[in-house]
Amino acid sequence: MSAETPPTSQPLVSVDGLEKYFWENDSVLDRLFGDEPVAVRAVDGLTFDIHEGETLGLVGESGCGKSTAGETLLRLQEPTDGRVEFDGDNVYDLEGSDLTEFRRDAQVVFQDPFSSLDPRMTIGDIVQQPLDIHDVGPTDERRQRVRDLFERVGLSVDQLDRYPHEFSGGQRQRIGIARALALEPEFLVLDEPTSALDVSVQAQVLNLLADLQDEFDLTYLLISHNLSVIRHICDRVAVMYLGEIVEIGPVEDIFEAPKHPYTEALLASVPRASTDERERDRQTLAGDVPSPRNPPSGCRFRTRCPMVIPPDDLEIDQEDYRAIMNLRERIERRDISLETVGGDEEFEFTDGSIPPADVDAFVDALRERVLDRELPARHAELVDGALAELASTDWDAAGTQLREVYASVCERDRPDLGEDGHPVACHLYADNECETLENVR
Ligand code: SF4
Repeated sequence: MSAETPPTSQPLVSVDGLEKYFWENDSVLDRLFGDEPVAVRAVDGLTFDIHEGETLGLVGESGCGKSTAGETLLRLQEPTDGRVEFDGDNVYDLEGSDLTEFRRDAQVVFQDPFSSLDPRMTIGDIVQQPLDIHDVGPTDERRQRVRDLFERVGLSVDQLDRYPHEFSGGQRQRIGIARALALEPEFLVLDEPTSALDVSVQAQVLNLLADLQDEFDLTYLLISHNLSVIRHICDRVAVMYLGEIVEIGPVEDIFEAPKHPYTEALLASVPRASTDERERDRQTLAGDVPSPRNPPSGCRFRTRCPMVIPPDDLEIDQEDYRAIMNLRERIERRDISLETVGGDEEFEFTDGSIPPADVDAFVDALRERVLDRELPARHAELVDGALAELASTDWDAAGTQLREVYASVCERDRPDLGEDGHPVACHLYADNECETLENVR
């Protein structure tokens, strides 16, 4: 956690190509009916190291695969593919006493301190439970260890015989932390450890985690959607989008000079702290996160990326290009209600088409509905040509017309995450000539 953590120290955790897919339509019944299994790619090829004494943050919107990555890394879920080395051993090969030792050395603190504590057990028994399961020392030593841990995390030993419901959220998270530390682990996965807490308590818990890291030489993987939490406690940050890491680097680099357009968008959506900053608009990321069942081709962020790259030979304003790409995606998803175009004066489709005399009016009404900006004449003409295909509900022809002119390298090629000190998976940086997004623009 300290800023001085040497980045060249030996990795304690080394993740290589980690994949975790869940399968849908995979039952015997589905196979009988001939349904193909569908992969939900929750974690799709993560590679990163965590060095001894370091805190690596894993950040991204909810549903991007962060928690699944943490659970798979701890072998609470079996991976689909990939390798995780802990202290040099592949954790997925461990068996017997080696696996037991890994389970002691690598612990987790969960987001919801209430549901992760058994309401029928006293908090003393909850914290002692890992020591009982692993049969660590005689009973009086276990009780003493629990008392020491209580004091260390800021709880009173007088409370040992109370039950979880008698405590506040912050106190319950301290109980969860004490339990995670009972077996003297080397590594903790902190899965949204403060997101269920009041803002006033969050900083206390983060400071406690920082102190405990120094005192017990702990290594952390901190999973959070909250960039303020990440900045408060992490040495390095890995930014995840739809199961992949899109950027990883030292915390100051990520916050001061983000490279990936997704990282920049995440930072732009954080509420401003200072008065100066509040004068800037708080931006939110446009569009929905695509489904991990059917992630976009090429760069997975391309359906929302404000910087999506136009073809080399196309002269077009970036915002116009984004608007046309949004329209194209809606057409390809058939996500426009053609029957209601025109409002009260709807157009009448007969056998899937409207009368030729109405096509121009239909295109005008449809354009008004699906585009919120006026395009330069050349692009307006191309877009109108595609919209005219929808007058005869020919979605494929409309999509093809737009694809032939506007297809982006971002949808054809999947950008690789590089290997330097601050790698980024984005075609804008393919030749590594650009230092930050400012330079790209
Ligand atoms: S590869 Fe293209 S779509 Fe993806 S982040 Fe970079 S510019 Fe945006």
